[in-house]
Amino acid sequence: MIIDVHCHVWEEQYLSEDLRAILVGIAKRLNFDLSLILDAGPERLVSEMDDAGIDKTVILGLDYEYLFKGKVSYKEYNNKVAGYINEYPDRLIGFAGIDPRRGKEAIAELERCIEELGFKGVKLWPLTGFYPDDVQFYPFYERVEDLGVTILCHTGLGPTKTYLKYNRPMYVDTVAVDFPNINIIMAHMGDPWVNEAIAVARKNPNVYLDISGLEPVFKNTPLVFFQNLFEAKMSCGIQKILFGSDWPLFTPILSLQEYIEGIKKMKVPPPMKLMGIPEFTAEESNKILGENATKLLGL
Ligand SMILES: [Zn+2]
Repeated sequence: MIIDVHCHVWEEQYLSEDLRAILVGIAKRLNFDLSLILDAGPERLVSEMDDAGIDKTVILGLDYEYLFKGKVSYKEYNNKVAGYINEYPDRLIGFAGIDPRRGKEAIAELERCIEELGFKGVKLWPLTGFYPDDVQFYPFYERVEDLGVTILCHTGLGPTKTYLKYNRPMYVDTVAVDFPNINIIMAHMGDPWVNEAIAVARKNPNVYLDISGLEPVFKNTPLVFFQNLFEAKMSCGIQKILFGSDWPLFTPILSLQEYIEGIKKMKVPPPMKLMGIPEFTAEESNKILGENATKLLGL
């Protein structure tokens, strides 16, 4: 089974102006067709999953209201995600977008999303302005632990007009230590703090790394991509690495199909081959592409 643990679905008409501006910025910076990242409905996603042979995809809600004005509230955004999952119950899995700064309201929304909407996790977006390890969020984490769901936390670089300092993998370490029963996925392997992310995932049995958003690295600096993946495997174990794409953001650089095929056919770059570094086996690729996520999400 192939699983993408990190995806977004949105429709242009309900995207906040601020978020739209960010997407326009990304498209300009990377010089690609804006429509490819603005038109990101569930039909297109599922059709591209079919092309790539992806069985299931996690769709992340987003709560950005502390930083950006939204056209829909964070609860309505979670409802949108629920709607997509209901359209494709065998293919899509929901994670709630909740900012833990909401306090009791955050806990209530967590319960609604997990118990009523059937979501399997919660997405944290610290780049909107919070440290994940703030003790005031501990009641929220206690509820996450009770409910037995997974946290996916953004780590690493974010877009313009978001804050970088909150995204260091180090802040996930504290939460992972204090809540050993919560499984936490650190998005984007913490890039550019890949070494820090690997350290956090290595010492905490409950921390995982997703390779979403690394399509530009994969395509433009394959040596760096391979090196990071190899180091993660050697340090943390292959079971800690999860396939993710951050669809639709990088599709103009690498389609889902190209990313999946790329992981399957990945070869040790010549300089590393000279050093005797072994290839990833088919078994290892299968673990990254889906077996690890199947276990983690209890599918
Ligand atoms: Zn993302």
